[in-house]
Formats: sequence, structure tokens, C-alpha cells
Amino acid sequence: MNIKKCIDAINACRFCFMCRHLDPVGNVTFNESDTPRGRALIIDKIRMDRENLNNQDFINTMYKSALSAANRYHCVSHYDEAGLVLAVRKDIVEAGLAPEAVKKLAKELEHVDFKVEGKGSNLYFGEMPELYPDSKLISGGDPGKALEVLGFTNESKNVFEKFKKAVINSKCETLIVAEPSSYDFLKNKFDNIKVIHSSEYLLSAGVNSQTQSKAYYLDSDYLKNYNDNLKAPRELLESAGYKLAMFGTNQEESYSVGEGAVVYDKLYPELAKKLAERVWEQADNPETDLIITASSYTKSILKKYNPAFNVITVEEAVLKAKGN
Ligand code: SF4
Repeated sequence: MNIKKCIDAINACRFCFMCRHLDPVGNVTFNESDTPRGRALIIDKIRMDRENLNNQDFINTMYKSALSAANRYHCVSHYDEAGLVLAVRKDIVEAGLAPEAVKKLAKELEHVDFKVEGKGSNLYFGEMPELYPDSKLISGGDPGKALEVLGFTNESKNVFEKFKKAVINSKCETLIVAEPSSYDFLKNKFDNIKVIHSSEYLLSAGVNSQTQSKAYYLDSDYLKNYNDNLKAPRELLESAGYKLAMFGTNQEESYSVGEGAVVYDKLYPELAKKLAERVWEQADNPETDLIITASSYTKSILKKYNPAFNVITVEEAVLKAKGN
């Protein structure tokens, strides 16, 4: 079982309640099972008796996790509570026990085709090609990250192979990736192609801007908690003239409404709605204050559940700062 490779996290988290306040789902359900301790206790029961893997409540609890990794990032010993959930999801899938909704979603995610268009020496993977005039554009869907976090390892590899073929055929040497989950997935997957986040590229290109706007930056789970707090998005926004203020009441919580789980809203729309409502409550004036997120997923969920939310992506903020 994959969870047997995570004994240190099981042993550390099952009796620890130190980071309970940082679990986004626990903060809206108020269930102990939706915290790293609750999940580690369940996983320990599965480890001791594999029969417990058949328990549908246990399985549902593992898929309900938002995988923000805020708990791991702020844990003094960085115990890999997020890796533990990913491991048990793999065990669930390998045992053929994934819930029907998860299996159906996985099938949909497998059916992708990638295409490359345009001209340029770089290849851009994102939603705002107008910011990258010297780049080709690759499109087609999720490159395999969503299947990976759902526990479908082989299917994820198959989708990635399709993506990789399209990237290699483009003959570009740099791949610029906008969505943080895709960046996290792709960053170490190519031998001779450099993968960078879109904020790193735009920062190095420089932004000619006159804006002095105040804005709140919502940290991305993947750029902060999975990638050692990548500084480029904040530096880019500051270089574009934005005066950044702290969002919410602390700098530890995840406000990215399930970004870590990539397809959270597709499986748990009611919980995603609650996560979005919590972010709304934490904001001072969400209809008028400018809120900026690196994740298109986060923006789309915040807007879906409250169109009045004044939230834009980092790329949109750059375009806005340029006066477009
Ligand atoms: S991640 Fe760290 S702080 Fe959180 S439950 Fe595990 S050991 Fe405790």
C-alpha cells in the first residue's frame, strides 16, 4: 500500500492538533475528520486493517480534502500530510474503490488532445496569449495533474505523454505555464525544455506601467505551499506598481478555494461554495477592493459563487496595469 511509505506523517499527525485551524475544509465543515489529525487517524486504521479501505465514509473524507498543503507548509517539522492524502487516494484507485463520480470525472480528464498554434521561440500554456506575442500557444486541457491528484497515476502519465509530444513537436526551448497546478506538475518533467511560471517570465520581461492601485494578493496553494513560496507573482505585481496589502487575518491560511485539489468544485460544489463564502467573509470590501490571484481556478470559483467579487488573475492585473 502507498500509505505504508508515509508512516512518519501518520505517526506525527494522528495525535497532533496543532494545525487544525489551517485546513480550509475543516474550517467550513467543523468536522475533525476534515483536519490532518482526523485523516491520519482514519489512514492509520486502514494501515492496520486493509478492510477499512472499503468504508465509503473514509473514502469520501479523503476526496473531500482540499489538498492546500498549508498545514504541511506551516508545520514546524513539515510533515507531509498532503502526500499522505495523495497516497491513500492512489490506494483507493488501485483497489478499484474510487467513488463513481470520481471515476466519471477521471474518464473525462483522459479525453484530451493538445494542439500548438502560432509563431515564436517560446511556448505558452495559459489563457492570455496576448501577453506573450513571441510565443506559440499550446491548449487542450489539463496536462495530467488533475488525474494525478485524484489517484489515477497511469492515466495521468498517458495524458502527460500526449502533452509532452505536442511540446516537443513545437521545437520550443522554454515552456511558460500560467496555472499554478500545471506549473507544479510540469516543472521537472522535461530534460531539455525549461519550464517557468508565467509570473517569472513577465517579471524578467519588465512591465511598463503607471498604476498605483492598492490590491490584495491571494496566495496560490501551488506557488506558496508546494513551491517554497515562489516570490515572482508578488514581485511582478509590485514591479507593475500595485501596492499589496495582506488579505484576511493571517498569512498562513489558504484562501484558494480548493486549488490544491485542482477539480474540487466538480466533485464538491457545495463545499467549494462554502470555501468561496468564507473568502468573501474574510475580505474587507470584496466588491470594491481589488483582489488578485495567480490561479484561474481560484478566480473562476470565487466569481461563480459570487459574481460581485472583484477578483482578477495576475496576468489580468498586468494587462490592466499596462492600461489595456
Ligand atoms: S502537519 Fe504537522 S502540525 Fe499538522 S497535524 Fe501533522 S504534525 Fe501536526
